[in-house]
Amino acid sequence: MAYATVNPFTAEQVKSFPNASDQEIQQALEAAQEAFDGWKTTTFSQRSQILQKAADLLRAEKPDLAGLLTLEMGKLFSEAQDEVEICAEIFEYYARHAETLLQPEKLPASDEQGEYWLKHEPLGVLLAVEPWNFPYYQVARIIAPQLAAGNTVLLKHASIVPQSAAAFEQLMREAGLPSGAFQNLYATKDQVETMIHDPWVQGVALTGSEGAGASVAEQAGKALKKTTLELGGADPFVVLRDADLDKTIQWAVMGRHFNGGQVCTASKRMIIDQHLYDDFLQRYTEAVAQLKAGDPMLAETTLAPLSSQEAADNLKSMIDEAVQHGATATPVGPAVPTQGAFVQPTILTDVTPDNPAYYKEFFGPVSMLIRAEDEQDAIRIANDSPYGLGGSVFTQDIERGQKVADQISTGMIFINHPTVIKPDLPFGGVRRSGYGRELIGLGIKEFVNHKLVGVV
Ligand code: NAP
Repeated sequence: MAYATVNPFTAEQVKSFPNASDQEIQQALEAAQEAFDGWKTTTFSQRSQILQKAADLLRAEKPDLAGLLTLEMGKLFSEAQDEVEICAEIFEYYARHAETLLQPEKLPASDEQGEYWLKHEPLGVLLAVEPWNFPYYQVARIIAPQLAAGNTVLLKHASIVPQSAAAFEQLMREAGLPSGAFQNLYATKDQVETMIHDPWVQGVALTGSEGAGASVAEQAGKALKKTTLELGGADPFVVLRDADLDKTIQWAVMGRHFNGGQVCTASKRMIIDQHLYDDFLQRYTEAVAQLKAGDPMLAETTLAPLSSQEAADNLKSMIDEAVQHGATATPVGPAVPTQGAFVQPTILTDVTPDNPAYYKEFFGPVSMLIRAEDEQDAIRIANDSPYGLGGSVFTQDIERGQKVADQISTGMIFINHPTVIKPDLPFGGVRRSGYGRELIGLGIKEFVNHKLVGVV
C-alpha cells in the first residue's frame, strides 16, 4: 500500500492505509461541491469563528499533533511543536483579516459615468497536493486562506504522512467545519488526474518537486484550470566582506540544518567573499560538527534523521555523483547513528558550474560553499541558478545589503537572516521554484473570481 507511516528513526512500519477507491473519490468530489454551495453563503464572521477554533485546537493538541510529525517524517519534536504553532498563527491571521483582504474595491472610473466595483468571490472546489517536509504548515498555508475565502478543499498529501493528514482533517471537523469542506484523500496519481479534470474542481495548488509540479500543471493546463506551484529551491546565502562572521555562522548552521536540512528555502548555496572564505569554512565546519544527531524526540538532539531511508540513500548518491564530477565532499562531526535515516553532515567544495551538482537542490544536511571574488561576483553566482525561491545577504551595512538584495532574482530575500517564514509574510518564488504566492492577501486572492460589477 502506498500510504504508510514508517518511523524514519527506527525504520519500523507503524501503520498503512489502503488507497482511496474510485468511488470514494467520486463521493468526495460530490461532497466538496455540496459543501461549497453552503459554505460560500456563510459570512466572514461565521468562517472566522471556525478558523479561530482550529487555531485554538492546534494549540490545545500541540504535543500530540507534533508527536505525529516526528513519528512520520522524523523532524525534531521541538521543531514539530513550532510548526503546529505557526499553523495556529496562520489560521488566526485569516480569522482576523480575511474580510478586510476581500473587501470589494471601488474602482476609480476614467469618466464621471457609473460606478465600478471589483468583488472577490470564491471559485469552488480546489485540490491541494502537498509534501511531507512540513505536513501541517503546507496544508494550513492553503486551507486557511481558501476556506476563509469561501472555497472548499480536497487534499492529496504525501504518502509518507497519512496520519498527519488525517489528524488535520479531524481537527477541522472538531473546529466545526461543515462536512465535505476539507477532505483528506489517500489518492493515487491517476485519481489526482481524475480530480483535476472533474468539472467541479476549479484550481490546483501544489507544493513539491519540479517533476510533480510539471506533471500536475500539465494536466491542469489541459483541463484549463489555474495552478499555483511552490517548488524547489537552492537559496543563495551571500556573505559579503564586511559580514559579522559570528552571527553569520550561527545563521548558516541553522539555515542549512533546520528540519534536517529538508526545507525548500534552506540556505543551500553559501557564496562567500574570498577574503572571508577560509575563515568561514573553518568556523562553519567547527559549528556544524557540534550538531548532535539522534532520537528526534529528545531535547538534546539537534540533527534529525531524513524523512525516509529512500531520501537518505538518494542524498548520499547525489553526494557521490558530485564527487565523481570533481567536487570535494568533507564529512563533518561525529559519525551519525547507524540506526535511522541519517546522512552525515557534509560540506561540498570545489563544485564548479560544469558539475551538475552546482545547479541541484540537496535536500538534507549538505552545504555547498562557493568562493566569490567580490560583491558583483557573489550576485552573479547567486543568480546563476534555475531556482529563485528565497535568499539572504550578510553584511553589517544594511543599505549595501539592500542594494545587493535588489540585484538577486528570487521571490524572497532577507538581510542578515536565512529565508524566514511567518504567518503574515507572503511565500513563493520565480523561475523553476514555481509561480503564484501563498499567504497574506496575495494567497487568499489566488483562487477567487475577481468580478467586475458595473453600475452604468
Ligand atoms: P514530491 O515528490 O513532488 O511530492 C509532493 C507531493 O506531490 C506529494 O503529495 C506527492 O505524492 C505528490 N506527487 C508527486 N508526483 C505526483 C504526480 N505526478 N501527480 C500527482 N501528485 C504527485 O516532493 P518531495 O520530493 O516529497 O518534496 C520535496 C520537494 O518539494 C523539494 O523539491 C522541495 O524544495 C519542494 N518543496 C517546496 C516548497 C515550497 O513552498 N516552494 C516547500 C516544501 C517543499 P506522493 O507522496 O504519493 O508521491
